[in-house]
Amino acid sequence: MIPRSKPDVARPSARIEAYLSTHAFKVLFFAFYGAAVTLMFAWGFKAEFTFEDNFDMPHFNTVRWFIGIARGMGYTLNLNTAFVILLASRLLFTKLRDSPLQLVLPFDAAFPALHIVVGYTIFFAVLVHGSFHFVWLITWDAWTWGLWSFNMSVITGFLLAIVFGTMLVLARPSVRKNNFRLFYAVHIIGATLFFGLLIIHGMFRQVPYTYKWVIPPLILYAIDRFLRRRKVSAVELFLSAENAVLKDGDILELRVPKAFSYQAGQYAEVQVPFINREWHPFTIASAPQDKTMCFYIKALGDWTKELRGAFQARVDGAVTDSLQVNIRGPYGAPAQHVGLYERVVLISGGIGSTPFTSICKDLHHRKVKENATSATGFEPSTSTLLKRIESRVSTAISTLYGVDISNAKDINQEEEEKRVYLANMLNLTAPGSGSSSGETTELEVEMVDASKQADESSSDSDRSTSMESYNVKNMLRKEQDEEYILDDIKNSANARRGNRERLSHLYEGRSKVLEFLHTSRVNLLLLFVLIARIFFICISSIIKADYIMINAEPHAIESGLWIVIVDTVLSIIFAIVLPLTIFLELSYMGSRFFRTVGRTLDFFVFLPLTITSASLGIKALVTERTDEQIVLFLHYIVFLPTLFVLLAVRMYRALGKRTLLTDAPCHCSHRDIVPNVDFVWTVPHENDDEWLRSELEPLADGTELKLHRYVTRAKEVDMEAGSEFITSSNTGRPEWDEIFGKIAAEAPSNSVVGVFFCGPHKMGDSVQSAMRRAEINSNLRGAYLRSTKEKTLMKDLGLPQRGLIKMLMGTGCSVRFVFREENFG
Ligand SMILES: Cc1cc2nc3c(=O)[nH]c(=O)nc-3n(C[C@H](O)[C@H](O)[C@H](O)COP(=O)(O)OP(=O)(O)OC[C@H]3O[C@@H](n4cnc5c(N)ncnc54)[C@H](O)[C@@H]3O)c2cc1C
Repeated sequence: MIPRSKPDVARPSARIEAYLSTHAFKVLFFAFYGAAVTLMFAWGFKAEFTFEDNFDMPHFNTVRWFIGIARGMGYTLNLNTAFVILLASRLLFTKLRDSPLQLVLPFDAAFPALHIVVGYTIFFAVLVHGSFHFVWLITWDAWTWGLWSFNMSVITGFLLAIVFGTMLVLARPSVRKNNFRLFYAVHIIGATLFFGLLIIHGMFRQVPYTYKWVIPPLILYAIDRFLRRRKVSAVELFLSAENAVLKDGDILELRVPKAFSYQAGQYAEVQVPFINREWHPFTIASAPQDKTMCFYIKALGDWTKELRGAFQARVDGAVTDSLQVNIRGPYGAPAQHVGLYERVVLISGGIGSTPFTSICKDLHHRKVKENATSATGFEPSTSTLLKRIESRVSTAISTLYGVDISNAKDINQEEEEKRVYLANMLNLTAPGSGSSSGETTELEVEMVDASKQADESSSDSDRSTSMESYNVKNMLRKEQDEEYILDDIKNSANARRGNRERLSHLYEGRSKVLEFLHTSRVNLLLLFVLIARIFFICISSIIKADYIMINAEPHAIESGLWIVIVDTVLSIIFAIVLPLTIFLELSYMGSRFFRTVGRTLDFFVFLPLTITSASLGIKALVTERTDEQIVLFLHYIVFLPTLFVLLAVRMYRALGKRTLLTDAPCHCSHRDIVPNVDFVWTVPHENDDEWLRSELEPLADGTELKLHRYVTRAKEVDMEAGSEFITSSNTGRPEWDEIFGKIAAEAPSNSVVGVFFCGPHKMGDSVQSAMRRAEINSNLRGAYLRSTKEKTLMKDLGLPQRGLIKMLMGTGCSVRFVFREENFG
């Protein structure tokens, strides 16, 4: 039997929401980047397309398209070549990673990921820029003689294309992996040549132009490199056989005197002049509290093999003199942010475990035992009652939302009927449409409670039951301002006794709209609207539409009418959504709305700015005149950027806490949390992680950290190895769905779990997919438990006591995962 009307849980929206919970700010960054590149193109295109001296050229109307596109692409190169060099400033990014900006800007991806993306964008622009100029030169015979004229740009243009093409080919992963030295040498020499040629090449009407764009970031980069040498601690060590241990799996353990202070998870660079002058990055595997500094180095390529060979000779006694090793650092890495999350999962493959070794030992040193709360890792629950209840919850959710989260097989007739019954019950709580979203918030609790209150208001005895349920739910909430809900509901329910239907509908409608308005999708969409406004205003100023001429006196809008219309329409979207959201929040909370700084700011700054901005547009449209200079200045230079920042803060709040923007203490703002940690690592063979087990040995004196070992190619594992601190030893690959399912199920409802990964890309992909599935399922669990009446839950889940509902709702509902990846490649 198929459920009569399966609620449309809008699964794509649930997926989008789960994706955005990790990547929303990255998406925003790319939207900004895309808009900036497009504007640069428009700027260059316009400059050439309307250049008056060209008007006399033969076939000018065709020619100007060619040279316009070529110049537009040239302008994008100005921006991107400046950006690509900034992204290589590692010290700058090490500092930025420690700033609050790291919460909204994708610094983890700056190098090498973003550097590579920008590199490809440059290559595309070089191709288009070069080809369009080339066609123009050939077709219209625009060639002129003389070295310092246009020819210089042509010659340097060819050379630039060759240099950049070579750099790009040798930067391909296949080459970089097999011949890093060649890649690195060509990259450094190529970059020097490239920027030198670019400065000569970048002329506008024989006047040097591009230097303005590339020289400032080049200076910044030079300072960064200089400071890297000076500021970054560097030590010269002379190491002997005593400093090295040769481990299984081609791993060299290098233990050296502590060279400088560092944070757990950071890395250093190592140079061995005996081999060559290259600096190689290695994570510091020891904890900051350790007296020595330790590196585990896998012999993968020439350099690491030579290093291992050099120490092998010393360990074997074939060579007796010491080896000079220079170390400099520390440098920032994603893993150093573990302290931002209360619940953390560390996942690594092979040598990728080094950052997490340091993290685990650091947490252990910081008395994890005393500080850790009640997390139990993801070991299966042993209670049969709980297992039974959880399996029924899964069955209900699988049926209701069409997502198989229980992997249940062979469902019999009776069970099928039960599912249908559950589905109908859930539908009943949301008359008409069924529950329409996977990200149901606490507002739905209120809605259900409200209808329940109305439902039961006719009977005093029933009311006490209902009050009990409010208390249970109130206990579940961490926020300070929830009592209002109770008052609100009580008052409304009393006032509207007998009008049960209307009340329940009112609450349902409001809560659903507000829930939707609080999603990351809506917040991101509003940010896109703002970017679009800024984009159109910039475009209009590039093409000199009247409306945006800030230095003009008020005058009639003529050519710029279209921009006024676009801008006003966009500002009206904003002026509808934001006041509506604030109005609904106010109607729920009353004066308690103002208890938090965030909401007060929303009301007194965000709201007036939004309305003023829209009104200015409407006024300009109606009067067909621009505003005073000062008003235009305020509008575009002050209001719009302020709106952008306020909205970004609002999205940050929405991401941290999906429900009602409660401004509950955000997990991410706490530094130095001692989190509950599960560390999962994989190795191919039994002895490949011997180095890791020995490094984690200090944890054997008792730890709250949960360590899970997977020997992927073994049929059986030695259960004794590291058994004092390893929570579970397994064979085969980890079942990520199962692992994340358990982590989500045991995490406190609405909490954020930080997932740190360092290992092969494919493994990272599987981890991310499973993580998202678990996040969606967790949202569904929240939706189901919160929107189903208590009595129904007790009956259908076979709960012996009401208290179990509190327990079910306290964990595993709407848990959010944040994925942070470290890349050794
Ligand atoms: C932040 C970071 C932390 C790392 N931590 C560790 C660690 O704890 N233990 C460990 O065994 N390995 C670690 N690595 C990888 C290590 O740097 C490389 O394996 C090593 O440099 C390989 O050099 P090779 O010449 O022997 O190998 P190659 O075959 O020349 O290179 C193998 C791979 O290593 C990378 N690589 C090589 N040389 C460099 C270099 N000078 N700078 C940057 N990357 C390079 C390249 O991506 C290449 O694909 C880390 C890498 C990074 C980026």
